[in-house]
Amino acid sequence: MTILRIALDVPLPRLFDYACADAAPTDVGRRVIVPFGTRAVVGVIVEVRGATDVPAGKLREAAAVVRDVPPLPRDWLELARFTADYYHRPLGEVIHAALPPRLRRTRPLTLPPEAFAITDAGRAALDTLPARSRARRALLERLAAGPLRAAAVGPGATLRGLVQNGLAVPCAAPDSPPTLVLEDPLTAPQETAVAAIVGALGRYEAFLLLGITGSGKTEVYLHCIAAALARGTQALVLVPEINLTPQLAGQFGRRFPGTRVVTLTSAAAENERAAGWLAAQSGAAHIVLGTRLAVFAPFTRLGLVVVDEEHDASFKQQEGVRYSARDLAVYRAHAAGAPVVLGSATPSLESFAHAQSGRYRQLTLPERARAGSRLPDVRLVDIRTDAPVDGVSSALAAAIDARLERGEQALLFLNRRGYAPVLVCNACGWTGGCARCAAHLVLHTADRRLRCHHCGDVQPIPRHCPSCGNVDLVPFGRGTQRLAEAIESRFPRARLLRIDSDSTRAKGRWESMRRAIESGDADILLGTQILAKGHDFPRVTLVGVLGADASLVAADYRAPERLFAQLYQVAGRAGRADLPGEVFLQTRYPQHPLYQALMRHDFAGFAAAQLEERRSAGFPPAVHEAVLRAESEEMRDAIGFLARALAQAPAERAGVTVYDPVPMTLAKLAGKARAHVLLQSPSRPALHAFLRTWVESLYALKPGALRWHLDVDPIEF
Ligand code: ADP
Ligand code: ZN
Ligand code: ZN
Repeated sequence: MTILRIALDVPLPRLFDYACADAAPTDVGRRVIVPFGTRAVVGVIVEVRGATDVPAGKLREAAAVVRDVPPLPRDWLELARFTADYYHRPLGEVIHAALPPRLRRTRPLTLPPEAFAITDAGRAALDTLPARSRARRALLERLAAGPLRAAAVGPGATLRGLVQNGLAVPCAAPDSPPTLVLEDPLTAPQETAVAAIVGALGRYEAFLLLGITGSGKTEVYLHCIAAALARGTQALVLVPEINLTPQLAGQFGRRFPGTRVVTLTSAAAENERAAGWLAAQSGAAHIVLGTRLAVFAPFTRLGLVVVDEEHDASFKQQEGVRYSARDLAVYRAHAAGAPVVLGSATPSLESFAHAQSGRYRQLTLPERARAGSRLPDVRLVDIRTDAPVDGVSSALAAAIDARLERGEQALLFLNRRGYAPVLVCNACGWTGGCARCAAHLVLHTADRRLRCHHCGDVQPIPRHCPSCGNVDLVPFGRGTQRLAEAIESRFPRARLLRIDSDSTRAKGRWESMRRAIESGDADILLGTQILAKGHDFPRVTLVGVLGADASLVAADYRAPERLFAQLYQVAGRAGRADLPGEVFLQTRYPQHPLYQALMRHDFAGFAAAQLEERRSAGFPPAVHEAVLRAESEEMRDAIGFLARALAQAPAERAGVTVYDPVPMTLAKLAGKARAHVLLQSPSRPALHAFLRTWVESLYALKPGALRWHLDVDPIEF
């Protein structure tokens, strides 16, 4: 009898055996439909064997092996196994989290043909087609020159007619040799970086590409990718923002004409995403470009991995299998024997430390790529002496006026959307809080609502104070909406564009705003971190930073790293082209070392000081961390569960420090109380050995309605 070991999407750390009459060892990696409880579910075959420990009476039969698409490759299953092992999650959960949603369904997949070719009958028809069939003749003539991709064919009706009459047939996509369209010659540092990375093609090596904003990191990626493609291998490019992918995909398409670039993001339609995934697996896709989930794309011959803006927090998945796509990207490169390039102007301290220790090779792009372009001057405006009116100091206001006069653009950065962060009753001190989270509700005046930025809850604005009845409720603090109002009344002739996740929510809004910025149809751009990332706005010559001080005092040890990266990125938006840029940062603490380093554009200095602080305080990367989290209706249940879990912890703690259960910083989220236990160890193997033993006993605890999970290398506390 043939037994299938199947990975199912259930929160149990085991595989499931099923009998199957119609399966062979070549089916490993295929999906299979099996009965589970009373349902039919999709699993993935990870092993085909001859025997099982499941007693004959209990052994169930698989319903069907799904052979619609090729099986997942062995090295992909290895990747899933590594991920399951490292993040201490069941293999079935990992596999299902990694698969594109369409492949998790029981319904087999049929994809539309990729391309079409002319048949002999089609060639013959070229001589006999009546003159009035102009569209058909035109299409047949194009097909006679060679197969056409479905996307390139044009209107479907003509093509359908040809196929129905046997004049054309579906075929595999034509393979054109990938070539890079060259633009400006590389700068000397770009040249050096490209030579180093290209020299490593064919073997594993990790590179940290430390390039200031505007230094042309993308150009380095493009040249390295061209070299990888020329060797007949594929490239994987990870980017942090969904917002950035269409732009980048367009750029890749232009620079690599005829090359199949597949984008993988959660925004793609199910079939499209599955098609992209399969194109990567078959080798038809030369370049896979995507957000963190693309790190799980299967490849036939992966030759280069690029992680752009590698410091970005969005590479860490924050629910389900909490993987770091950046770290898995390094694993993949290692497993594939390919170089990996981690690029950033402000790398994570983890990667920076690896570069310092020599584990990663550091390549530096110290200047801007475009001739004449240089980093902006950063000025710290002391708001103790130049008190802001409506949020804007007189120094910044004068700088904005100068831009308006010259027809240049100013960008104002305030990392707080909404009108005001909180609504307050001045009579009794009541503040509008979210009933489900330990957080304030943010006042949004555009739709007259209070919104929770953590759980999304929406409430009407109360007419009077719910606690004392006072009708005079006032907004406290300033968000982008309120600042926009103030700016509009202060600079009445300026065309203002507010850019935050509220104003860009509607589909296509961000694209049209970006075009307005590029064509000069806006004078002042006011927005949150959406504006900070990776965009190239050549007309922006002034960046004003408001309210940064709030992040200086955050409790989290990663806060300075995040703030520096954010400010550095947003400052980098100033003066990208031939116009020099200026940054005005309003602060009460102009002497703060973080701001001082920012003024000098000194990431290395800032990072070295941070690493020293982390080392002496015993924080990562000096130690490795994991947390066990619990979420429950009541905080005492969450803490109680963690205490019970700790009672199960292995007695052998060799080098692992286990802290007491405590509430998380955001102690309540969406109605759930949240608590955690922090584990630290200077030794990664020691930490993982501890976790491996511990996590097994955790599955045996009966948590009831409580939910728990482990987070390895957490970034949220
Ligand atoms: P980064 O990602 O490092 O911030 P980009 O890749 O966005 O920088 O490049 C910044 C600008 O410099 C882009 O407009 C790009 O076209 C231009 N650029 C890149 N390389 C060169 C080069 N070698 N010569 C001239 N311009 C370049
Ligand atoms: Zn009140
Ligand atoms: Zn909430």
